[in-house]
Amino acid sequence: MTTTTPHPLVTEARRLADGLLAPSAQRVDQNGVPASHIEAVRRSGLLGVSAPGEYGGAGAPDPVAREVAEILAGACCSTWFVQTQHHTPVRLLAKAEPGLPARERLLRPLATGELLAGIAYAHVRAFPRVPVRATAERGGLRFDGTVPWYTGWGLNDVMLLAGVTEADEVVFAVTDAREQPGLRPSPPMRLAALTAARTVSLVLDGLRVPEDSVVLRTPREEFARVDVPRSANTSPAVFGVASAALDLLGDTADEQEAARSLRGRLDEVRTRAYALADRPVPRGRVEERLAMRTRAYDLMRAATTAAVVAGGGRATSLDSPAQRLAREGMFLLVQGQTAPVRQAHLAALASFRTADGNGAPSPSRACAG
Ligand SMILES: Cc1cc2nc3c(=O)[nH]c(=O)nc-3n(C[C@H](O)[C@H](O)[C@H](O)COP(=O)(O)OP(=O)(O)OC[C@H]3O[C@@H](n4cnc5c(N)ncnc54)[C@H](O)[C@@H]3O)c2cc1C
Repeated sequence: MTTTTPHPLVTEARRLADGLLAPSAQRVDQNGVPASHIEAVRRSGLLGVSAPGEYGGAGAPDPVAREVAEILAGACCSTWFVQTQHHTPVRLLAKAEPGLPARERLLRPLATGELLAGIAYAHVRAFPRVPVRATAERGGLRFDGTVPWYTGWGLNDVMLLAGVTEADEVVFAVTDAREQPGLRPSPPMRLAALTAARTVSLVLDGLRVPEDSVVLRTPREEFARVDVPRSANTSPAVFGVASAALDLLGDTADEQEAARSLRGRLDEVRTRAYALADRPVPRGRVEERLAMRTRAYDLMRAATTAAVVAGGGRATSLDSPAQRLAREGMFLLVQGQTAPVRQAHLAALASFRTADGNGAPSPSRACAG
């Protein structure tokens, strides 16, 4: 039998999850992610999991980053979500040209956790709608429009902000995550899930960002060519939440049978989804990625439903982890949703089969009677 020692950051994630995140997840869900949780995440080294070693990161391979994400999301989805934003700017800066001022100034403090970053870029996917316009102005850029979603407000230090120029270029730049001339946050949103992650919208009205804070300029079509396959991948958080829900099932034979059956299928989908995620993006395979993402959603829904059903009426109490995981699962259904993801998921739901094997009615049956 071969045994493999877990990566130190996987061990660290497990320690943080078991010692802090999971025991306080119910409280955090109701009261918000506290600054002390973010402090613990900063100190853990997990913010540098994918950052290059020469900038103070761990340079760990993607399977390690995914396992860490599963552990954190299963323990406290709100804390996972706040910190997961950080990894996008880290990866973008790591891929930028050495010598780029933003890279040299920010990559090390981001990799070591001295700075925590959020992101404001999902709106770029709404093209040809342009919620945020970037315009060249006086040796820098100005941003105008509305960022619909920005998570971690008041917890993170800097944000990676994206806008689209008149020439249909996507520009990513870093700015301080605080109210400033040209940037005004909404009050924190009250949501059915992850209110704790402190999500706001941002009104941008001539926000100035200097040229040396620009991280990337890329034609919008080139952005989409990479973004579409990548956003079709399954988030490790889906497996983390599903697994945490199955852990709630008890010792009775029927609970054990539900847990065993769902865990087996989750493992299979997880293996296939991660194999696809490891394929170079130019190889696309968007349909396969979307099919795995949809299957993972189905299994996560089944897993969180099983935890609620097994828990009975008590599962609906705000003290119950089962209802929290079910709501977190609902959030994951729309997190990172793009038009192809939405379309594939709705198409799969249209032919959804019930437990007795019945699928969607044929058009003739649907019209009958
Ligand atoms: C709680 C929360 C926090 C978030 N935090 C962040 C954050 O910090 N940073 C960030 O960048 N993003 C964040 N997001 C955005 C998120 O990742 C997704 O991009 C977002 O949930 C997609 O939803 P939307 O309603 O904004 O997208 P929409 O743009 O309305 O829709 C998603 C996609 O579906 C397509 N679509 C929508 N309606 C239709 C239709 N009727 N017919 C055909 N196609 C359609 C759109 O074109 C789009 O591509 C957050 C979302 C939530 C819910």
